[in-house]
Order: sequence, then structure tokens, then C-alpha cells
Amino acid sequence: MATELNARKRPARKTARKFSLNTENELKARIRQIGLIMKKSIDDRTDIEQSIMKESPDIVEEIERRARYRDERLKKLEEVEDPPAELLAKVALLAEAIKHAKHVVLYTGAGISTAASIPDYRGPNGVWTLLQKGKPLEKTNSLVDAEPTLTHMAISTLHKVNHVKHVVSQNCDGLHLRSGLPRSALSEVHGNMYIEVCTECDREYIRLFDVTEKSSFRRHTTDRYCTECNSPLRDSIVHFGEKGNLEQPLNWEEAAEAAKQADLILCLGSSLKILRKYPCLWGMHRMPHKRPKLYIINLQWTPKDDLSTLKINGKCDDVMKLVMEKLGLEIPQYKRDGDPIFELATPVPVDELQTMMTKHLVRIFPHSNIDMKPVLNENGKMVKIEPEVYKTVPGWFGKGCAKRISKKRKRLKSA
Ligand SMILES: [Zn+2]
Repeated sequence: MATELNARKRPARKTARKFSLNTENELKARIRQIGLIMKKSIDDRTDIEQSIMKESPDIVEEIERRARYRDERLKKLEEVEDPPAELLAKVALLAEAIKHAKHVVLYTGAGISTAASIPDYRGPNGVWTLLQKGKPLEKTNSLVDAEPTLTHMAISTLHKVNHVKHVVSQNCDGLHLRSGLPRSALSEVHGNMYIEVCTECDREYIRLFDVTEKSSFRRHTTDRYCTECNSPLRDSIVHFGEKGNLEQPLNWEEAAEAAKQADLILCLGSSLKILRKYPCLWGMHRMPHKRPKLYIINLQWTPKDDLSTLKINGKCDDVMKLVMEKLGLEIPQYKRDGDPIFELATPVPVDELQTMMTKHLVRIFPHSNIDMKPVLNENGKMVKIEPEVYKTVPGWFGKGCAKRISKKRKRLKSA
């Protein structure tokens, strides 16, 4: 009986749905029509067009609201640099603040590594920006060719002289570690491309090559095994949309502890769009007058700008060079030969040599004969590959972003 009733109701439901779809399509057509009219200058609009606009004030208002929102978004993406005099004045304030602070914590993002030719995420040619526009990621030279920038070296110096207590970085490029910053002072909250770990016995392996070659969204095994317990090793990267739960190198415990004690937080080269989502980093649970002072160095707008004591619109290297001058500190030059990673690294066992498919970090730079990667050929003979072969998209670039963007596009299409 119920089935019969349902069958009778079906055509009525179908008609209702068709009617609402028609209304929806008519509305979309009207929005499109008015949108086209509004693109014309007021003088060019015909009388009919003007009366169409007058008939639908709600649509006109909605189109104006969307245009305002789009303009605001574009403005936030613009890279702005402070004029030299203003920059100098701001640097003096920052240097004074660092000098007098008791517990300085640094939050760093991709903007501090762009000078090392590693693309950022949300800059004009950033990984995320390109993926959002549906453009392919450009192949880059191997990231082991990238070296710590002036900012990395300045930060490790500031830590050495006790001006900075802890660094929380979103970067996976391992450059903080390679600049000489000790592991205990570093939380790499999105992982490190040189570190693979055994989740069974917690042993960690630092390598001299990018271990993330096969890494993908929720796929982290590296095809190598723990020499202690023979369990599969995994990379330490946290892709977009994943939750990082490794103790090291993420080191969240120290990051939260440092933030708890911080009286000054300095953010460098980060859009803060991800970091702002972690309440433990900002001390917002404290009384307003006891919250840490916030200083930001970034070319683009960040969601924390309004809460900051000082926002410096400048390139990290330019600003840090001036800050170090003001503090009377010299920035040491990075030397490949003295890179601490060579002392920290564990060699790969001979039977796993075929799993290393990416370029190796070597003490001598630039290219020399030993700069070539040794691999086994089909006859089982060890051969070396020329550096050009290494041009690739690193395993940790934008994984998860593409998935999220395609989901968003699907949602928009079906709406
Ligand atoms: Zn193990």
C-alpha cells in the first residue's frame, strides 16, 4: 500500500523538482545577465539594462558584495615592501624588542627559504597558488642543492647567543638543521625531508638525500627498513589534510612549552594560515596584558597582522641582515663542509642502495664527480647518474593540496 502511495507521489515530486530547477536556472541566468551589464560603465548602459538592474536590487547588491570580497582577497595576496626609511625604523624597534625580551620564540615558513630557490606556498609562484590555478608544478633542481639562507644563519646565531630560545618551522627542507640549529631548539611541525623514522622502536634515521620521493597523501613508507627491529621506515612529512603525530622531528611538546613561556613571538616568511589554527602556539589563554608580543616579517597579509605589535613588510633576508647589524652580531657564512648533517646522518645499508633514487648531499659543492648518484644498473653493476636526471618535483610538494582543490571544484560544480 505504502509503495503504491509513493509511486503516486513520485510524478508530483518530479514536477516540483523540475520547477525548482527551472527557477534556479532562471535566477542564475539573471545573475549572469546583470553581471554583464554591471561590467559596462554607467554611461554605456541602455535604458532597458538600467531598468533590469532596478528590478533586481538584491542581485545587484550581491554582485557588488562578491566584487568587494574578490578585491579584498586579491589585496591580501599582494606582495608589499615597506619603503626603506620605514623599514629601517621598524627594524630598530624589532632589534630593541629582541634585546630586551626574556624568551623569544620564532615561527618560520617557506618565505625564509625562497632565497634558496625553494618555492613558497602562497606567493605569486607558490606551490599552492599554482595548483589552485590548475597549473603544473615546475620541476626543480634537487633540493639537496639548496643551502641555508642568510635568515637561517642569522637564526642559528641568535640561538647561539641566547637571544632566541626555540624555533617552530613549517618547512620540510631541513635547512634549519643544516644551518647548525640544535635539534632540541627546533620543532619541524611538518616534518623534515632528510628524516625517516621507525614507528615501532622510535629510532630515527637522518639521511643525506630526500627520503620523500615516493611520499604521497597518507602514503609514507620509504621502502627501507629499521636496522634495529626490521620494521618498515616512514618519512616524517605531514601533507596538507594530514595530522602529524610523530614525536620527532615534529617536537610539538617543546613547541607548546616554548610558546607557554614566550614573551616575544617573531614570525618570519609565513602566511600563518596554518599555524594560526594551533591555539597552543599563541598564548591566547593568558590575560591580554600577559600575552606574548607578536612581530611579523612577511611580504603578504597574514591573519595575525591586526593582533601584531609590529608588521614588517619585507624580504626576510633584507630584514634579518639589518636586525643583526642593529644587534651588533655577525652572520656566519654557511659552509657545506661544516654542515652538521654529515655528522648526524646514518648511511644506508648496501642491500638498500637501490631504494635511494634521489640526489645525494655531498661535502664538496658545486658539482664534482662524486656529485653523481650511484645506482645499480640492470646487470647489477654500480653506475653513476648525471645530475641533470635529478630534476624532479620533490615528494613533499603540495601533496593533499591537489586532492583538496579537486574536491572543492567538484563541490562547486555540483552546487
Ligand atoms: Zn625499529
